[in-house]
Amino acid sequence: MIKKEALLVDNHNREINYLRLAVTDRCNLRCNYCMPSEGINFAKNDTLFTIDELSRLSTILVGQGIDKIRITGGEPFVRKDLMVLLRNLSKLEGLNDISVTTNATLIGPYIDELKELGIRNINVSLDSINRETFERITRRDEYDTVHNNLIRLITEGFNVRVNFIVLENQNTQDLLPILDVMKHYNVSVRFLEEMPFNGGSKKFNTIQWDYKKILEHILSNYPETEKLISPTTSTSINYQIKGHKGTFGIIPSFSRTFCGSCNRLRISAIGDVITCLYGKPKTNLRDIMRGENAEMNVQKEILKAIGSRAKTGFDAQEEHSTVFDSSMTSIGG
Ligand code: SAM
Ligand code: SF4
Repeated sequence: MIKKEALLVDNHNREINYLRLAVTDRCNLRCNYCMPSEGINFAKNDTLFTIDELSRLSTILVGQGIDKIRITGGEPFVRKDLMVLLRNLSKLEGLNDISVTTNATLIGPYIDELKELGIRNINVSLDSINRETFERITRRDEYDTVHNNLIRLITEGFNVRVNFIVLENQNTQDLLPILDVMKHYNVSVRFLEEMPFNGGSKKFNTIQWDYKKILEHILSNYPETEKLISPTTSTSINYQIKGHKGTFGIIPSFSRTFCGSCNRLRISAIGDVITCLYGKPKTNLRDIMRGENAEMNVQKEILKAIGSRAKTGFDAQEEHSTVFDSSMTSIGG
């Protein structure tokens, strides 16, 4: 592993070494907290980065100090050429951690190659262990496929984290059962607060199920729970229940308690540079990547974007009023 000097430091003295790279805004599911049933106005193909552009862009950013890339979307595996990108990334010197966030519907045929490439960190989004609830939330009949792929990833030794968005009146009855099901596996179940990035289908300014309520609910059933030490840049507060093999985490994604140590940069599938989930894009890199002197110009734009980051998600939100019209499938999560 190569440890490099971090070169990207924002205007609040936070080191930026983690890129969340969206490879598409399309998805084969329609999770109701992410987008409306009819989908969103998906980007036209020629406005999405090609795999070659994504590879070149990653190389530039790794040269600037990024050492961890998470591939996200939309659903990354709807891109038939995703493995070409992953193969390229796996050869990139200085990139120490490649991970993927997926709904696990389409990953099956690629599991062996992911293993061969050494890509072990897979986050699987699963918001219910009950078939009907799963289908109501995702609006698709993919429960068995997701379940089977999840079990396969776990048994094949991947470092699996399950992302469970806590949705009032939809899946809170599954919080304890999912911990029970996962107690024999070396898996981290992460409970995330719901954020209002659903393509405008549902607006809210407060949430009932915040991180405190999620923890209280779990502790009332599992009082013998220990808080774990987490890396300073971790967004999740992590715990282990006595006797459970796995762990769980709670991510205050709406309460935003973690901004002080945020080390993330997001690039959307159409090239928007997003320095905070709650802020508007700082710039767009697509034409720059397609123009002359791409490397130098991308580097400049990235430095400029990182040099003007909002201090917190609340400050970023104040900068523009339309942030909550976005869908997470466009932002990349
Ligand atoms: N399709 C992949 C998946 O679902 O894992 C990757 C993209 S998805 C946009 C990335 C993450 O964002 C997922 O874990 C998803 O559950 C989460 N997400 C989507 N909409 C959200 C929302 N409104 N609030 C909180 N998390 C959300
Ligand atoms: Fe698709 Fe992921 Fe959004 Fe669900 S959360 S609709 S799987 S992009």
